[in-house]
Amino acid sequence: MWYRVKCNHERQTNSMKISEIISSGVPSLSFEIFPPKVDTALADVKEAARKIAALSPSFMSVTYGAGGTTAGLTLEVADAVENGFGVTALAHMTCLSSDKSVIKEHLSALREKGIENVLALRGDVPAGAEPHRGDYAHASDLARDIVSFGGFCVGGACYPEGHPESPSQKEDVENLKIKAEAGCEFFTTQMFFDNNILYNFLYKIREAGIKVPVIAGIMPVTNGSQIKRICALSGTALPQRFKQIVDRYSSDPRAMAQAGIAYATEQIVDLYANGIGAVHVYSMNKPEVAEAIVRNVGAIIGRPE
Ligand code: FAD
Repeated sequence: MWYRVKCNHERQTNSMKISEIISSGVPSLSFEIFPPKVDTALADVKEAARKIAALSPSFMSVTYGAGGTTAGLTLEVADAVENGFGVTALAHMTCLSSDKSVIKEHLSALREKGIENVLALRGDVPAGAEPHRGDYAHASDLARDIVSFGGFCVGGACYPEGHPESPSQKEDVENLKIKAEAGCEFFTTQMFFDNNILYNFLYKIREAGIKVPVIAGIMPVTNGSQIKRICALSGTALPQRFKQIVDRYSSDPRAMAQAGIAYATEQIVDLYANGIGAVHVYSMNKPEVAEAIVRNVGAIIGRPE
């Protein structure tokens, strides 16, 4: 069975805690959606979310605009996913510029909507903006507060190639351990394009005593020119094999999309084959990308024809 159905706020939802989804033993495949920057684009984003939800993913994550700029829209899209489309929603939440009272208010609003999963993040200061110093320095501080608020399954982010601000991967792993001890029940990785990087990272964190399940984050690249900039910012390495694809096809959008989805599919198949039970696809509000991935790996994750 793909989902456990429960009754929530008098609406039928398929909501589950992400920790339960991961430990169910069924391979999980989830997708990400980001809310619009302006209300006017909300209908388009909800339509994209509806189409992705129709693919019955294990859950869908909804990002949070830098510095909490789209908090209300994150809530609205997560509500649509959870209660409108019947798919478990994972609401992202950042804390860098937030006061504790704002965080509590947002948690109460999520609880009110029956959303049970939160990804606790620090966030980045938007380029050119003066950082407002709030009550939080690190994602682990936020995770601790969400856990003590109660009722949520809390996750965090992790970085197989090290967070770009970290002086060393060793320090980054030590900080990840603090996040695990703060109560994170799962970690989702930054995108990576070489699975060996994830396997090495898992070895290191397990050796450091971090037992929290890790969800592998995969980005099917459909826009070649964007990816070089994103990778430079996030410190993600582009393997030579992937660079060849981008160099060759980035000027032809259809060819780039086909090659990017094929590359991501190959990564995902290898991850499941090597016992990684949970894959999260950075689907960038593109239902056609999510559909292609489901088509390519449906049998592998045991979906009926
Ligand atoms: P932290 O865990 O706080 O880590 C940030 C840095 O501080 C790291 O270098 C870490 O090693 C260090 N550190 C952590 N704890 C300590 C400590 N106790 N003492 C000293 N140093 C410490 N951004 C958004 O704005 N909205 C989103 O929705 C969003 N979703 C994301 C989802 C995923 C899966 C990922 C990987 C990233 C996401 N981001 C998002 C980006 C993220 O906010 C940035 O990468 C940010 O730079 C770090 O956030 P973090 O939660 O990992 O922070």
